[in-house]
Amino acid sequence: MKLAKRVEQVTPSLTLAIDAKAKALKADGVDICSFSAGEPDFATPAHIVEAAKQALDAGKTRYGAAAGEPKLREAIAQKLQNDNGLCYGAENVIVTNGGKHSLFNLMLAIIDAGDEVIIPAPYWVSYPEMVKLAGGTPVIVPTDEKSQFKITPAQLQQAITPKTKLFIINSPSNPTGMVYTSAELAALAEVVVSNDLLVVSDEIYEKLVYDGTQHVSIGTCSPEIYERTLVSSGFAKAYSMTGWRVGWLAGPVEIIRAATRIQGHSTSNVCTFAQWGAIAALESSQACVETMRVAFAERRQAMFDRINAIPGLSCAKPDGAFYLFPSIAKTGMTSLEFCDALLEEQQVALIPGIAFGADDCIRLSYATDMDTINRGMERLDKFVRSRSGSTEAPRL
Ligand code: GLU
Repeated sequence: MKLAKRVEQVTPSLTLAIDAKAKALKADGVDICSFSAGEPDFATPAHIVEAAKQALDAGKTRYGAAAGEPKLREAIAQKLQNDNGLCYGAENVIVTNGGKHSLFNLMLAIIDAGDEVIIPAPYWVSYPEMVKLAGGTPVIVPTDEKSQFKITPAQLQQAITPKTKLFIINSPSNPTGMVYTSAELAALAEVVVSNDLLVVSDEIYEKLVYDGTQHVSIGTCSPEIYERTLVSSGFAKAYSMTGWRVGWLAGPVEIIRAATRIQGHSTSNVCTFAQWGAIAALESSQACVETMRVAFAERRQAMFDRINAIPGLSCAKPDGAFYLFPSIAKTGMTSLEFCDALLEEQQVALIPGIAFGADDCIRLSYATDMDTINRGMERLDKFVRSRSGSTEAPRL
């Protein structure tokens, strides 16, 4: 069978593949500690589930507008105004099948063959593949722990060519958990504006920030950057609604209309009653988000302390999201070797840094219960010590 060339250049999603493997092993009765996919372990809050059930009972089971339920588009625009200071109306918003799909629509709407898209590494696994699927060229700009895994304005400027169309920024970041400050964003925004680029800001983890960290949307830095900014987000992480597949893209009307045209010929509307659950998520109390954030903060601290107590591993403290991204450089293993052997020998699943463009790191999600974290960290400690031959007592 001859498949399309576009598929040949695209790799399978490692986050999904490893998560599926861990779930299958668990279903087979294997005692797995999984820190693989970034999926909150909480049930979707009851009032959101109830709103979707009521929508089903009320017959909200028909086709809807491709761009989304008008009430949900309005609620998202309102949220972007209230929480983020971005002046949008419903016409600036399209509801998509998750955050991933909002980015995919955007790529199809603005990328022509040969257009370059600047992506700081470590990056979320799907960004470069989406660019390639749209016919564009990902331009990867490596960053490291010394710069807190953040791209500098000079690095951004240096990566720009006449073919550059888009810059992707993700704060809080998956996989590093780093959060850009408002001054850092303003400096990057200046480079975007002076080179007449577009920027997409993936803000899916905006509600998950710790130790008083503030989330800022790059689109608020100046009127000029506002006109060039797209915001991608969704309900999965903040409201524990991963399987619902409800996300959004917000930005200039022309681009939202283009994304709507694409969606009209691909998925049409997002599941109607799921959208009514999402409306309830935005219009009800946000206490459930805070409850989950507080739990994540506790787990982050526990996992951070345990990892840094393992000789051979080191980890910067993230300000947001629910990932740690430790360096394994001292172990001498590639990230795939490390993760394969860890799964085989200790039944601990995590994601190799190579999936995010950083082969000397591994990613652990702490969106899981404290018991799994404790057991998993013991196994990780044992694994790293067995490899290094270290008998040194843990530093905790
Ligand atoms: N975004 C989550 C992660 O990075 C879920 C899996 C995926 O969509 O890649 O683990």
